Amino acid sequence: MYEMKNKMSDRKLRFIVVDDDPDFVGYVIALLESKGQTVKGIVGSDTALKEIVEAAPDCVLIDLMMPGTDGLELCKQLSARKELHNTKFIIVSGKPYEVDRARSFEFGAHGYINKPLNADTFLDSIFRIVDDKMELTFWGVRGTLPVPGEGSLKYGGNTSCVSIEFAKGQLLIFDAGTGIKSLSNRYSNDRRRRLEAKIFISHPHWDHINALPFFAPLYVPGNEFEIMGASHGDISMRQMISAQMDGTYFPIRIKQFGSRVYFRDLEEEEFSIGDGITIKTKLLNHPGKCLGYRVEYKGRSVCYVTDNELDLEDSEYFNPFYVKNLISFVEGTDILIADTTYSDEEYKTKVGWGHSCVGRVVDLAHEAGVKTLHLFHHDPDQTDADIDGKLEQAQALLKERESQTQCLAPTEGQVFRI
Ligand SMILES: [Zn+2]
Ligand SMILES: [Zn+2]
Repeated sequence: MYEMKNKMSDRKLRFIVVDDDPDFVGYVIALLESKGQTVKGIVGSDTALKEIVEAAPDCVLIDLMMPGTDGLELCKQLSARKELHNTKFIIVSGKPYEVDRARSFEFGAHGYINKPLNADTFLDSIFRIVDDKMELTFWGVRGTLPVPGEGSLKYGGNTSCVSIEFAKGQLLIFDAGTGIKSLSNRYSNDRRRRLEAKIFISHPHWDHINALPFFAPLYVPGNEFEIMGASHGDISMRQMISAQMDGTYFPIRIKQFGSRVYFRDLEEEEFSIGDGITIKTKLLNHPGKCLGYRVEYKGRSVCYVTDNELDLEDSEYFNPFYVKNLISFVEGTDILIADTTYSDEEYKTKVGWGHSCVGRVVDLAHEAGVKTLHLFHHDPDQTDADIDGKLEQAQALLKERESQTQCLAPTEGQVFRI
């Protein structure tokens, strides 16, 4: 169900590029042909509709500003043709304005890519739009404390942060551990793009919120964010975030965010955030209030379930009702990102610390029919070799159960498409 980004290059698609600039048409043809794609160029929009309908390509790249029929109008006309129901329309424009991006989607575009093109990522951006997949990126996979140094070169040393980006650019961020700094760098380098994102906080322990002030897009006027998570009694999400930015613990206050930032307190609930994206939440077994998230989109799903303690079945704390509920929460998901802080041996001395061992999470994933389990929130005392060991332990246990569930330990920066 998922593919890694670097396995996409042997795909072959048929393209048509429509632009009133013959040089740009030539450039796109050369660029895509050099990557093994079939491309036809049309200069100007006069004959474009007829030629595109006849060819019914996989993807049409359309300029926005063209004399005569402009890109929006052409997009609208193409969208109405039943011959082109399997064709994707992507606006490729030098206009960075949010209004043009939004209008393009209203007129039937499936994606919007800004000129000048990045030759290295252009085809990859197209595939993501054509496939309409969720792009899941791991920015930090560690728990509790960042651990830079020799022991974390493989998996990375940053604390919890993952993102999911959709074809039309919607961005969801889960937790703001130190991994969010790399995500921040990615968007800070793309200054022309206005950023809108939902930030879901599992809970306000330091390793999940303390790098939020370093997420630079929060300070950029025009950007817009909604920060969501469970309130703690009478302490709202807004208070939890602003408390660490009170001028004493961090020199900048939330009032100085240049973007528009909204806060929302969540309970166990289900809601839509538009464009067919559904969010479900579940309270987890961890000190204080901690939420797990399930994101659903067009029959696919990702579950983010950290921090969470699954008690051993012979423990006096074992709660079958909770486990049953959690199984149904993650049932059948494509990717379960789960707190597997400890190996089974380590857990024996960490009972009651609020985190799970590999064996119990494997049981959960197997019983829930999870497609791929991603080990997450590794203990700061574990080296890369220790994480390798946990992965081997998980894979052996799944094999023992003759399970269909796969298991991976994602590394920092790793991307999955679902
Ligand atoms: Zn944590
Ligand atoms: Zn925690």
